[in-house]
Amino acid sequence: MFNRRKSPMPTKKKYIADPGTLKIDLMLRGVRIEDSVVKAHTCGSSGIDVLLPQDTAVNIPCAEAFTGNSPYVIRKKHGAYVITDGDAEVGINLVERPDFLSRKSASGVPFSKIVEVRGALTVVTPSPRCDFFKDSVECRYCAGNFNAPDREQAVYSEEDVLEAVEAALKERPSRIIYLSIGFSDTPDGGIEFLQPYLKAIKKRFNCLVAVEALPPKENRWIDETYASGADSVLYNLEIFDKELFELICPGRAKLIGRQRYLDALEYAARVFPSGTVASHLIVGLEPPGSTCMGIDYMTDMGVVPVLPIYRPTNDKALRIDPLTTEIILPVYKHLYTAISRKKISINWVRDLSMASTPAELRSFVDKGVKSATLSESFYKTGLGRKAAWGLSALRRKLRVRETGDK
Ligand code: SF4
Repeated sequence: MFNRRKSPMPTKKKYIADPGTLKIDLMLRGVRIEDSVVKAHTCGSSGIDVLLPQDTAVNIPCAEAFTGNSPYVIRKKHGAYVITDGDAEVGINLVERPDFLSRKSASGVPFSKIVEVRGALTVVTPSPRCDFFKDSVECRYCAGNFNAPDREQAVYSEEDVLEAVEAALKERPSRIIYLSIGFSDTPDGGIEFLQPYLKAIKKRFNCLVAVEALPPKENRWIDETYASGADSVLYNLEIFDKELFELICPGRAKLIGRQRYLDALEYAARVFPSGTVASHLIVGLEPPGSTCMGIDYMTDMGVVPVLPIYRPTNDKALRIDPLTTEIILPVYKHLYTAISRKKISINWVRDLSMASTPAELRSFVDKGVKSATLSESFYKTGLGRKAAWGLSALRRKLRVRETGDK
């Protein structure tokens, strides 16, 4: 599967031989596609889904401007597909867009409006509405279509949602259905709205359901989430650094509060089984040392941090520069080490195509990169100093934007 050609040039750091690290480098740098058939049918603005060796699922950016500089290319070779970095290559499988996404429910709702498929996950959104947009306090990186004009009042019926879930499960037996909702200013954090869908899915199908919501104001709604049949819950803090959280997630900061995220996660970790409470920390929107502090804080509570990599779009480039795989690999190692130290189960959080999971990094970590002192030593390195510079530039940019918004 893995072939290496002789290169006449001295090579930079190469990641192609290890699927776990290659996944991170691909998510960060994207891929260019030479095959016109693949380009036309598979690569959309949300990337191309690919299976690397060892069944490592990854969604690779391929349409954004920054991917034009990627060293990686997908091309056809002897009737199969490979990814090459110009020096070595590795065989891949393309994950086709599921057919059901082109179909509609009996009442005429396109399944693609209700369901999004990400790796092995099926994300179901019964109401694509987020009230942060009403007050222009949406998360600055939000790449979803929660603000599309026709979605303001959209609420899909239980039957439409069940048909969509059935179609998804028939075509791609999924281990997990992700039930997701945007912000609504109610004490229950949206769980009261999701409850009928959650109960109906659990009753009709033999599948696991994760609820991705914003933390409710009262803990009793977390109990209620568990009692309604949710197998897992995610309250995504996204950014651990307090100041950057307030700047990048103004709605979450003003209407929920960082402390409420942490308290709700802590409470949920006492209610749900080990490894089933998770929270995203987006890599690239804060310094790596800060993400590591978030990892420590969360794993101390028994919460699994999930680390997606920020994907700049042409109109939203919030990323701290420079951001390279060399800089962020120690963060993933730190995650794996922290999870292992706390003995948190990693069986639940897996097969994510948009984020690396602890299980995928096992082989990399076992090679023995020291990470325990990352937070303290990072800013002493040349890369760390550059990242600190990128951070101050990002803070300034966001402040300017806030001022300009008024
Ligand atoms: S909570 Fe933030 S990321 Fe989620 S839909 Fe609303 S604005 Fe977008």
